[in-house]
This record gives sequence, structure tokens and C-alpha cells, in this order.
Amino acid sequence: MSTAYELQVLNPATEEVIATVPGATPADVDAAVVRARAAQHRWAAAAPADRARLLRRFAALVDEHVEELARLEVREAGHTIGNARWEAGNVRDLLDFSAGGVERLSGRQIPVAGGLDITLLEPLGVIGVIAPWNFPMPIAAWGTAPALAAGNAVILKPAETTPLTALRLAELALEAGLPEGLFQVLPGAGAIAGNALVEHPGVAKIVFTGSTRVGKQIMATCAERVKRVTLELGGKSPNIVFADADIEAAAAATPMSFLDNSGQDCCARTRILVQRTAYDRFMDLLGPGIEQIVVGDPSDEKTQMGPLISRVQLERVRSYVADDAPGLRGSAPEGPGFWFPPTVLTGLDPDAPAAVEEVFGPVAVVLPFEDEEDAVRLANATEYGLSGSIWTRDVGRALRVSRAVAAGNLSVNSHSSVRYSTPFGGYKQSGLGRELGPDALTAFTETKNVFISTEA
Ligand code: NAD
Repeated sequence: MSTAYELQVLNPATEEVIATVPGATPADVDAAVVRARAAQHRWAAAAPADRARLLRRFAALVDEHVEELARLEVREAGHTIGNARWEAGNVRDLLDFSAGGVERLSGRQIPVAGGLDITLLEPLGVIGVIAPWNFPMPIAAWGTAPALAAGNAVILKPAETTPLTALRLAELALEAGLPEGLFQVLPGAGAIAGNALVEHPGVAKIVFTGSTRVGKQIMATCAERVKRVTLELGGKSPNIVFADADIEAAAAATPMSFLDNSGQDCCARTRILVQRTAYDRFMDLLGPGIEQIVVGDPSDEKTQMGPLISRVQLERVRSYVADDAPGLRGSAPEGPGFWFPPTVLTGLDPDAPAAVEEVFGPVAVVLPFEDEEDAVRLANATEYGLSGSIWTRDVGRALRVSRAVAAGNLSVNSHSSVRYSTPFGGYKQSGLGRELGPDALTAFTETKNVFISTEA
């Protein structure tokens, strides 16, 4: 389809239309790739220190606009204001971190006979970043900042429902002095603008974050062209609570481990696995914790959980929770907005849909387990492998279980998963490749080996 179309952006807390944005067509993608290639050639040829300086200036401008970007995120995505400030700050930090890598992106010198062997890390060219709606700013930056730092140009396609912060970031990049065309944002439909980016021969790599279903299609299209691809996909992560843990601390940390961002978090700990001997005590502590979660206006500083992103998402979440399903319930506002209460389901079979599929809403299941072996078996009984938490006071057990759980990002006695300085990505159907961390820039380079003879 190459005819013009528009995207309507709704405030998910009120259902009001807050913006209408033109959607990119395949012809727009073609034109963007031409601009990006020209900008990329100049960018790659610039002095590394100058590239780093411009990225730091971009970071400083994001820092000056944290509050504005955060307010925009609250309006278009329904994120709580506290989270949204963190998200804008994450963009700033990642730009700074990546800028620090520009002058450290070095190849190697490998001992060989008869000459000198060196590797060059060369930029790939134009990178297509396709982002989801659940963390519009950070996820856009996870692909964009290291790709730019490694000498590439970026075309970012934000999700249909959340283009506004991405568009603002592109304006700030230009204001910071990044060359025109180097970082472009093309809002549009996945099947139109997203697909055009994936198919485009001038795009060297796709960084996709989104559902496993779409990720598989993108990987198949990339395979035909041997296009490089990073996939950050779904999750159904366990929160494993052993009876020897600090049960009060584990129970206190559990609500926000799956309710943060209204559960629309690929790392949400939505399978709460509790050792049977501690089960009753844990549930007694968890009940009040769930009831006390403050759900409401995301711009209110006291709010802990806002609405879901859309009516489609609300209906999807509802389909997993029968009205009379046993478990714990929190509260949610009535009236306009896509609200669903914090929910913990109990008494489910371990293979029930809500226990194995990604709900992507404020819904978790609790399943009891007998011993360490049983815990690991249950933790791994899913096609996903993104994150997970292990609560125990036994250091040996923490390490054994960390090794045994097939997931890319684990935390012990905490629920943290994502830091810009540490690698992030999934095992199994949660993804392919890694983002962030010390090697983030290398993922946007091609390694070239050069041998120089000393015999001639
Ligand atoms: P989605 O797959 O529907 O869409 C993601 C992006 O892909 C959007 O920009 C969309 O427009 C685009 N898209 C859709 N169809 C396309 C196509 N055929 N070709 C190219 N692009 C296309 O996912 P969503 O509903 O926006 O996001 C939620 C999903 O993202 C969840 O499954 C969640 O777990 C996952 N996610 C993963 C991570 C991670 O790092 N692993 C992080 C956040 C979200």
C-alpha cells in the first residue's frame, strides 16, 4: 500500500485522541534510506572524537528535556510519571554510555607468521530499529544509540500507538547537531512501514523488539537476504521463592515485579513459583501488598500503576481471567481508560494458558513447587527465556539455580533486569542476540580481517 494514511494517538487513561500523525509508506521508507546512506557515509568518515562529542550533546539535550519527554510518555503510553522520567533518563544515559564507546571501538592484532594481522570493526550502514509500544523511549534508544556510536545511520519505526516521544527525540538529535538524515523517525503501520524497512535492500540490519509472532516473520524475511537481525521478543519469567529466603522481602517485592508498567513488560515476573512449605505464609503477605497498589491517573506522583495501552490489549488481558477465577485482586478505576486491576491467579494447572502464555497485563499466576529440581523444571517449562528472579539465602543454591534456568537475565534477591551497562537479551523464543552492555557497539559492526605481509 503506498497511499497516504494516518495514525491516531490516544491517551490510554482517558481515551482522548491527543495527536494524529502521518503514517510512512514504502515510498517514504525508500526516500529515508537514500538520505540515511548519504548521512552515514559522512558520519563514518568523521573523527571519532567529533562523533562522540555530538552524541554527548544529544544526551545533554535529552537531559534538559527529561520532564517534557516524560510528560509526553505519560500522555501517549499511560506510564506513571516516575517511570516515564526514568525512561527519558535511560535514553540520556545510553547516549552518554555509547558516546564513551566511540573511541574505544577497537579491533585486534592477532599473532600470525609472515606479517601482521589486524581486524577492523566497520559500521554496517543503515540500521532499521522497530520498536514496540511498551517502553517506547528506552527500547528505541537501545538500538539507536550504540548503532549511531558505531558509525551507522538509524531509521526508527516506533509502534503505531506511541510515535510522539520518538518524533521528539529526532528533533532533539537535529538540534544537537547530528547530521540531517542520520537519525530518522518514520511512524507507521508495522505491515507497511515496518515491513518496507525489513525488506529494503539498503537496510543492513534490523533490530526488532516486539512479539515473538512478528519476530519470527521478520527473521524469515531477513533470512532471504541474509540480513543481520537482533530480536528481543516475549517473556513469561519466573519469580522463584525458596522457603529459606527472606519471605517478607520476597513478598514485598513481588507486586511491582509484575505490575510495573501495568505488566506490559517483557521481563515481568508473571510466574510466581513458591516452595510449598512457605506457600501459605507467602500468600498471606502478598494479599495486602496487591490490594494496596495505587492504580489510577498516571500523572499523579503517588500512582504505582496506570492503564493498559489500548482496548485491544485490555480485551486480550481479560480473555485470560475468568470473573470467578480464584486468587488475589487489587483495584482499578471505573469509566474511560483501559483499566485492569492487579490480579494474582491461584489453583491453575502449570500448563494453563495464563501460566504459560505472555498475557502482557497486570496478571500473574502462583504455582507451588517441592524442591530445587522441581523449581528448575517449572521455571524452564515455557518456550520463553528472558528473565527471572531467585529468592534464597543459600549462595550455592542461588548459583546452581542461576546456571540451571535457561534465561538471559536473572537476578538474585531482587527483580532488576535491565541496565544500560550490562548485556540484555533472551534465550529460546525470547530472542536472538544481545543489546546493551560492554559489547553493544560491536553488534552494529562487521569484522574485517586484514593480513599485511612483511615478506614482500
Ligand atoms: P508487535 O510485535 O505487535 O509490534 C512491535 C513492532 O513491530 C511495532 O512497531 C509494529 O508496528 C511492528 N510490526 C508489526 N508487524 C510488523 C511486520 N510485519 N513487519 C515489520 N514490523 C512490524 O509487538 P507489540 O505488541 O508492539 O509489543 C509487545 C511485545 O513486545 C510483547 O510480546 C513483549 O514481550 C515484547 N517486548 C520484548 C522486549 C524484549 O526486550 N525482549 C521488550 C519489550 C517488549
